[in-house]
This record gives sequence, structure tokens and C-alpha cells, in this order.
Amino acid sequence: MSSPRRVVVCGAGVMGASVAYFLARRGVAVTVVERTGVACAASGKSGGFLALDWSDGTPLGPLARASFALHAELARELETDYGYRRMDTFMVAARERGAVGGGHRVEAPGWLDGAGVVTAALGSTETTAQVQPARFTTALIGAATTRGATLRIGVVEEIAQRDGAARGVRVGSETIEADAVVLAMGPWTSRAARGLRLPAVHGLKGYSVTLAGADVPAHALFVDYRTADGRALEPEIFPRPDGETYVCGMADPAPLPESAEGVEVNDASCEVLARAAGRVSTALAAAKIIRRQACYRPVTDDGLPLIGRIPGVAGAYVATGHGPWGMLNAPATGLALSELIADGAASLVDLRPFDPARRR
Ligand SMILES: Cc1cc2nc3c(=O)[nH]c(=O)nc-3n(C[C@H](O)[C@H](O)[C@H](O)COP(=O)(O)OP(=O)(O)OC[C@H]3O[C@@H](n4cnc5c(N)ncnc54)[C@H](O)[C@@H]3O)c2cc1C
Repeated sequence: MSSPRRVVVCGAGVMGASVAYFLARRGVAVTVVERTGVACAASGKSGGFLALDWSDGTPLGPLARASFALHAELARELETDYGYRRMDTFMVAARERGAVGGGHRVEAPGWLDGAGVVTAALGSTETTAQVQPARFTTALIGAATTRGATLRIGVVEEIAQRDGAARGVRVGSETIEADAVVLAMGPWTSRAARGLRLPAVHGLKGYSVTLAGADVPAHALFVDYRTADGRALEPEIFPRPDGETYVCGMADPAPLPESAEGVEVNDASCEVLARAAGRVSTALAAAKIIRRQACYRPVTDDGLPLIGRIPGVAGAYVATGHGPWGMLNAPATGLALSELIADGAASLVDLRPFDPARRR
């Protein structure tokens, strides 16, 4: 099979942006079609936390390690400041009311001066890092367009096919012609994949807030938290280099709306997250909520992403279902898929665990 000359990538979240960048870097003509806006969904509202070895011992281990290394390379290569930096990472136990018994179990940073107890060091600047997700995704799209890719706003309805092969995508009454198509529409991927033999992709909703006014060090926190009414939550707290602190958590079974514009924010859930942050640090307790957000991570039934050829349609590919680790795994997914599309095989990592044709 000859290498495709024109590829349409559907979705400008971090996955579509990464695939587009690595294809454009090797000279393939790429059109990205995005419904709403670059990084308008989870890729603009997620934590952006990266871990080298937290997926070790699972099928994701090699992908995560390759991607962690690629993040460091991209931070140099893209020549854009999108908040990439290494971090130390801690586990903290805290309660909305009262204190956790005993003192810190490991040496605790001074700014963790609230009612929480630091129970473990989870990572160091060798093994954990962060990006600012919206800026990272935008930087990838910017670098792809610098290398000739184009971005179009439009709603992809389906893959246009001829004789069992993808020949582009249908956007309204128009067909955007291409030799290969990549579906990377996050939790919405299944909606444009009707009739294709793909495992289902769902959306799992979560909330986040950003806090301003607490200029705290580069320490990521994973919190074991109990609310006053007894709920067990696991908020994650990521100070960012721009001075804001991001806090996320609070899974919600609410159904996926038609598009990112229809995602509703529950203020009460956001308040719980801000209060949790305030319990571990007096600086965070004094900080103001700047943004209240919600988004849906794309999840599959077996917990593994879909990366590879869509069975039954030559020239059709998919990259989605990365769950809680899409920011981490986007670079290796994009590079490996670009190799599969252009060379016929991925050399960066073995994509077989993520084969969309796997048993469901
Ligand atoms: C609260 C939260 C915190 C997270 N924290 C982290 C973290 O710290 N580290 C980490 O690695 N990961 C994290 N994640 C996971 C990560 O954010 C996601 O896995 C990742 O953003 C998914 O990217 P995506 O490109 O697949 O999907 P999305 O970001 O959802 O992008 C899909 C895009 O497709 C577009 N689209 C949809 N339908 C169509 C259509 N018909 N036509 C054209 N375009 C369409 C959408 O508008 C959207 O822009 C977090 C997720 C959540 C929810």
C-alpha cells in the first residue's frame, strides 16, 4: 500500500493535534476538522499531569514511557512555552472536617500547612511533570499548521467510503477528500463511527477549578479526602507556572452532550474541590476561584485506548479512549500512528494492545 498524500484528522483535541503534528512533520498534507474549537473539551480542561512509570506493569507502560520522553523533546522542539516543567509529587490525606491522625509520614513541603498529612512521595522531577493542556494542544496545532496543515471548523458526520476504502469525510453536504482518515473526536468518536466495527467509546464527566493568588511551588498533590458528609473523593492539585493552581476530581455519571458547548458546570461540585484544596494549604484556602469547568474524558470498556486501523475500511484509523492519561500519552500515540499511516507499521511502540480490532 502506498503512503497517503492527504490525511483528514477529525477532532482538534490533544490526540488529533498530536497525530496532525507528527504527520505534518514528515511532509504529509493534513486537514484537521474540528467541530467547536481547538482544545475546547477535555484537552483544554484537564490536569496535564505526566508520569513516567505509573503505568508500568500494564499494557500502557511502554506507551507512557515513550510519551514521557517525547514530552521532554517536544518542549524543546515546539519552541513555545506551554508550561512544561518537571514536578515533585506527593500523596496527602485530608478531611473536610477535623484532622487526620499522626504527623507527616515523609518530609513535607512547608506550604502544605493545612489540616492534611503528607503520607508518601509519589514522584520526583525524574518521574513526574506537567503541561498546561490547552496551551500544549494549541502549540501542537500551531506547529502542524506551520508545517502546512490546515484547520477547518466543521462537524464530521461520517467517513466517506468507496469500494471499502476511506476517501475522505462528510462534513454537511461536502466531502473533504483524502487518502486516509483519523477519527480523534474523544468521547464523541462513536457518534461519527456508526456502522464501523469499533469498540464503544463513552464519556466520563469530571469537574475542575483553577485558583489564583497562591503562588506555590511545583508540587503535584493526590489527595485522599473525606467530605463532612462522608464521601470519599480523590482531588488532584496541580500548581502551574503561570501562578494558577488547578484542582480536579468529582466524577459525575451525567450523559455526554451533543458537543463541548453543551457541557454543564455544577457550581457545588467546584466548591467542594476548592474547599478540599483549602484544607491542605492556607495559601490555597486564601486563593480565589478563577474558572469553574467540566469536561468528559474518553473511556473504553476495557480501559485501553483505541490506536490503529479501523477494521473493514482501508485507510481509516482511530486514536481515542485514553481515559485519565490522554495528555501523557498523546505524543507517543501521535508519533506511532503517524508511522503506521505513513510507513505501514509503528516502530516507536507496539500498538497491538490498542488494536481497535481486539476482542470486545
Ligand atoms: C478532569 C480531567 C482531568 C484530567 N487530567 C489529566 C492529566 O492530568 N493527565 C493526563 O494525561 N490526562 C488527563 N485527563 C485526560 C485527558 O484530558 C484526555 O484523555 C484527553 O484530553 C482526551 O483527548 P482527545 O483529543 O481524545 O479528546 P477531546 O479533548 O475530547 O477532543 C475531541 C475533539 O473532537 C471534537 N469533535 C467532537 N465531535 C466532532 C465532530 N463530529 N466533528 C469534528 N470534531 C468533533 C471536539 O469538539 C473536541 O475538540 C483528564 C481528563 C479529565 C476529564
